[in-house]
Amino acid sequence: MVNVVEPTHTPHSLVPINHTVELETYVALAPDLRQRVAALIRLSLWYIETDRGRATATAAQALAQAQVLGDHVLLGKARYAKAVAEMLAREDPTRTEDHYYELTRIGVNFAAQARPIEAAWCDLMAGVALERLGDSSGTILLIDRALTVFRRFGDLGGQARCLNTFGVQQSLSAHHHDALRLYQRAAELAVAADRPGSHVLAWMNAAEARINIALQAFNEGKNEPAINILEIVHDELVVLRRRLIDLGHRHLQARLAGLNSLVLAYLGREKAAIAEAEAGIVLALATGLQQSLGSARCYAGQTHLAVGDHRIAHNIFRSALEECGAWIRPTDAALVLRGLVETSESAGDLRAALDYHKRLLDVELIIREQTAKREREVARARLQLAEGNSMDPRAQAAELIRVNQALLAERDELQRLAHTDAVTGLANRRRFDAQMQRMSIRAELTGRPLSLIIVDIDRFKVINDKFSHLVGDEVLRRVAATLQRSCRRGDMAARVGGEEFALLLPGMALQAAIGAAERLRRAVRECDVSDLGPDMIVTVSVGVAAFGPGSVPEQVYGAADDALYQAKESGRDRVCVAPASLGSAPRLIA
Ligand code: GH3
Ligand code: MG
Ligand code: MG
Repeated sequence: MVNVVEPTHTPHSLVPINHTVELETYVALAPDLRQRVAALIRLSLWYIETDRGRATATAAQALAQAQVLGDHVLLGKARYAKAVAEMLAREDPTRTEDHYYELTRIGVNFAAQARPIEAAWCDLMAGVALERLGDSSGTILLIDRALTVFRRFGDLGGQARCLNTFGVQQSLSAHHHDALRLYQRAAELAVAADRPGSHVLAWMNAAEARINIALQAFNEGKNEPAINILEIVHDELVVLRRRLIDLGHRHLQARLAGLNSLVLAYLGREKAAIAEAEAGIVLALATGLQQSLGSARCYAGQTHLAVGDHRIAHNIFRSALEECGAWIRPTDAALVLRGLVETSESAGDLRAALDYHKRLLDVELIIREQTAKREREVARARLQLAEGNSMDPRAQAAELIRVNQALLAERDELQRLAHTDAVTGLANRRRFDAQMQRMSIRAELTGRPLSLIIVDIDRFKVINDKFSHLVGDEVLRRVAATLQRSCRRGDMAARVGGEEFALLLPGMALQAAIGAAERLRRAVRECDVSDLGPDMIVTVSVGVAAFGPGSVPEQVYGAADDALYQAKESGRDRVCVAPASLGSAPRLIA
């Protein structure tokens, strides 16, 4: 059963004022320099959400005037505003480390001035910087420290922001239910604290978490609960949009349009979905932020794909990749590449589909590695915190076991992915090479024989050209299956190139290996492929070589490859034996 979470009951009537106008008025009407600087600081922090272009300039203005004033507290606050504005509004990832150090320095000063709440805000933002730098455990430690201070002094807005950041960590690890609970609590706290900016952020994050929960439900075939969730989210987004317009929160408006377009597409309201996706791109362009634009394009492509408009989806995905390539988050890049594989296939461009698929596998590996790293760090930080808070040792142990099991599963999956060919499921070249090294050493030590067979499909290009790449892929799988069937325990079959396979046969001397190669050749020729294309025949050419005392794996491989070449030269669909194995020219077997 899908755990359908009730929507937050948000008092939507809260803070219905236009904050931007109000804050700008404070600056204009400030009776003295001190109050003017204070108002500029608040305005610059507000602009981060609403008008990022102005955020850093306003913070710089606040800082300059605070220096004139010579007030240490205001000077610290202006420095904080400038660092945060530059980090969040400028999108220059190369400077994140500087921002982290700057925020830490400002925080230390505040602590020395006995201003714990300001110091805690510095911790919180330094934690956000660390998350961007990929140090998740550092983030948790800093934010937990900030949270403790906010709780002690009853700063609800600070607490809201902390829970929101913890929620983002959970979302990044695809723990959408945990994330949702954190966002909902953050939204409640932000309302209580009268912090409209934090409130809409938590609310938006909660909506996205719920959409992800619905998509998971779809994937598990639980369509009805999924649709129920999406209907609720859609209603919420309508209300949230009104709030964002009231607040002038521009980049969240772009994100909302993107999310809503997806929701509408899944609910089958195609026209509305597409209009919403286009609005999202326009809004993202207006923010001037590459990341917003990349996300908007990603949403729009998915929306067009969901409503079956593959050609337009393809073009949108391509521009997302071309224009926003460097800015795109790996999770978005995976969505874009997956879309490009699907749309290239349906357009019949199978070569492009294959290329995108290869890039997709790389990106997926990166995502898995990042997630595994984050899980590990989050677990470590939680335990460290638990020690500090003297958490119930049984709960601690249970947590450790849970995390360990998740990590082991993740590691196995990673190893499998890194060593497996995606098309055929056989070992890939990397694993084959490692195994050949290991087996040749063992053969040397034990004096047992070891043979190598290389198999190359004949005229495979013709099969691709005549019957399509997808049929070509299926032929690769059939040949792979035939190879696999011919393996004994301890043998290893691998895909070592496009249409090239290799077989390692420990304990088998050359003569026996020649026999095995010949049986394999015949098995491929006799393999029934009539369902793939009329009068299609698949044949392979085979090279065989044996390891001997002192032989080097690369040389044996080269010898088998030479024999394979010979088999091709002499007419294909035959087995040849390497000269080095026999001390003579390649010998023709069949
Ligand atoms: P030969 O008998 O001399 O081996 O001819 P061939 O056509 O098999 O060899 P060639 O090396 O000229 O072409 C190999 C083809 O294999 C070219 C490439 O498009 C195709 N290919 C490589 N990897 C894949 C794949 O993953 N899937 C499909 N369908 N085709 C692939
Ligand atoms: Mg070939
Ligand atoms: Mg080849």
